[in-house]
Amino acid sequence: MKKLKGSKFAIVLFVSLIAISGFIISRNYEFAKKSGPQPVLAVSTQNDTPPTEERISDTVKQALENATNTTSIAPLRKFPYPFDAMLAISSDIDYATVEKFETYHQFLNTLEQTTHGPGVGLDIGDSAWFYVVNDSLINLDKEGHKVAYSMSYFQGLNPNFHKDADKIIKYYKEGWIDSLHSFGDFSRNDRSIQFTRDLAVAAWKAMNDSGFKPKVWINHGSESNVQNFGAYNPKNLFKYQAGDDPKSPYYHTDLTTDNGIRYVWNSIGMSQFSYDNPLFPIKLRDGRQVWGFHRYTHDVVNGKYDWTWETHELHRQITKERLEQLVQERKFSIVAQHLGKESAEFPFNPIDIQALQLLKAYQDQGKVLVARTSRLLDYARAQKFVGYFSVQLEGKTFININSIKDSVLASTTPTMDDIRGLTFYVDDPDKTFLLLNLTYIPKEQLQRNGPDGSSKKSIEVKWYMPDNVDYSKPPKKVTQ
Ligand SMILES: [Zn+2]
Repeated sequence: MKKLKGSKFAIVLFVSLIAISGFIISRNYEFAKKSGPQPVLAVSTQNDTPPTEERISDTVKQALENATNTTSIAPLRKFPYPFDAMLAISSDIDYATVEKFETYHQFLNTLEQTTHGPGVGLDIGDSAWFYVVNDSLINLDKEGHKVAYSMSYFQGLNPNFHKDADKIIKYYKEGWIDSLHSFGDFSRNDRSIQFTRDLAVAAWKAMNDSGFKPKVWINHGSESNVQNFGAYNPKNLFKYQAGDDPKSPYYHTDLTTDNGIRYVWNSIGMSQFSYDNPLFPIKLRDGRQVWGFHRYTHDVVNGKYDWTWETHELHRQITKERLEQLVQERKFSIVAQHLGKESAEFPFNPIDIQALQLLKAYQDQGKVLVARTSRLLDYARAQKFVGYFSVQLEGKTFININSIKDSVLASTTPTMDDIRGLTFYVDDPDKTFLLLNLTYIPKEQLQRNGPDGSSKKSIEVKWYMPDNVDYSKPPKKVTQ
């Protein structure tokens, strides 16, 4: 009787274990299906032959640990297959209202039939800020709202009064916001300085509490904005920048860099449209280092700056000639804009919509991958600094990604999101396996590619899945 009880218990235990592991596998599968990356119009051979061992074998592990070969077996492709360039539109949130933000992002990010025609469904992020004390008297919109109505986390300078905090947190989590346009709009016609370190402390407390924690910082505005940093020079107009000066009452880069800002636009606009890599190192006055990044902001006409980063000017920024050159030269471009700045409800004329449709066509044809600024910069960083070893064993190739050897932010062990899109040229993608820190990357997260324009095949960590959900609409009610 006792023995029978024992074997019954063993059977129950066995069945439960199978049920639990089945649940875990299906949960993982659901995760991969819902939030895992999907190829953007990439062709996969889908001819997967995974290694028989789920765990890495000692032979492969030893070979990878002893490997000295990095690039010759599996050199990196510049961009995720099949693309030959990457572009971001990086919009500063000046004078935007929640209503304007939602209207233009519905058009940019979704494929819905909007009041301005079918959306273009591109991955375009935006910026946000905490405080607005701009003393301009302009109207933000046709309803005559004043500057205090601007989309911002707090009302005025009061960190105890939430204005649009809920919307900003929501749109950050949903991907329509990925940058901080400094802590706020401190531009003043009366030239008074309203920013203090206490405001930065309150903002970082709110960011850590809410999870709204962008990696991208974009300086804003005139010399009243002493929170700006990254281009300080006592001999030019950037001498007002005080955010990185430990002796200044406006110092904050200890908080800012420790809390996760990786990439900084330092107020220096560029007329150059594209770069091999948009990142450059910035040494701050407190001894810290961050990545600066270039944004295209203006043209130079007859020796004068012609700013094209304004509402209704997008068609002058994104042209067929520029996109064609970007692809030919295999480069990155970050196009700066102020999509919510004008009082008009919608920032695009028909000619601007044509430019966006052209950009979408370049993506659909597998030429230019459009990515929000933070994703483009993360990719540019990973592509430049990834550390990996590759070995060939018994007719198979194993590539182990184990570091981002970042010379500015310090070397780190990468996460999956740090390495999305990395693409390795290999002879036989079907017989190649990618590992992250000596653990197999699941096949749902990989994409095996046929030959590209250079006739070489490749394997990659899948890019992010396209997301065209209209987050501006209220969530559908669950009916009982
Ligand atoms: Zn601005």
